[in-house]
Amino acid sequence: MLNSVKGMLLTLASTFTGLRRPVTRQYPTVPTPVQPRFMGFPALTWDNGVNEPYCTGCMVCIRNCPTQCMSASMMDNPLNAEGQSSRRKIVDYFEINLNRCILCGICVEVCNFDAIVMSHEHEMSTYERNGDRVNLPALLEIGQKYQRETTWIPPTVLAKAKKDAEDAAKAAEAAKVEAAAAVEGGE
Ligand code: SF4
Ligand code: SF4
Repeated sequence: MLNSVKGMLLTLASTFTGLRRPVTRQYPTVPTPVQPRFMGFPALTWDNGVNEPYCTGCMVCIRNCPTQCMSASMMDNPLNAEGQSSRRKIVDYFEINLNRCILCGICVEVCNFDAIVMSHEHEMSTYERNGDRVNLPALLEIGQKYQRETTWIPPTVLAKAKKDAEDAAKAAEAAKVEAAAAVEGGE
């Protein structure tokens, strides 16, 4: 009996005093934020230093994509001819059919040029059958948005910084051991 009364009081309190917070999110007016490591659709990155895509159109990701939803081609890089870029080849055409992408991330894993990322983009419903075939400018736009929002650093740059720090730590340790041995030898 007492528990029933307690339950009724709780129900009344929730109803009239708003104790329970609303659980309905007003999507899409209020978008649901994603976690930092959320994997949305793949997108291409932009090299702000040279002002061109990182992608060389090498086709490695395309050969490894399990759903064969990507296509690309490469061309000679005009900025390389002008001495402004170290990339001899650059992407000319790129397309991903996002309707067939299974978000596996293999394309990102196999790319040797930091050229592709799993972006935070996940709202791409369309009414047309081929509406999610996304071309090079659109992929670069999604990638640049991801780079801005996540302060993205190319993985190879991060790996090099980590290796340099490890090498410096090892060198410092070796110097310390050498100094200690020199002190011992002098005594
Ligand atoms: S995204 Fe990477 S692996 Fe794919 S074509 Fe471009 S450079 Fe090659
Ligand atoms: S995430 Fe997987 S399925 Fe999608 S484009 Fe990359 S390799 Fe293909």
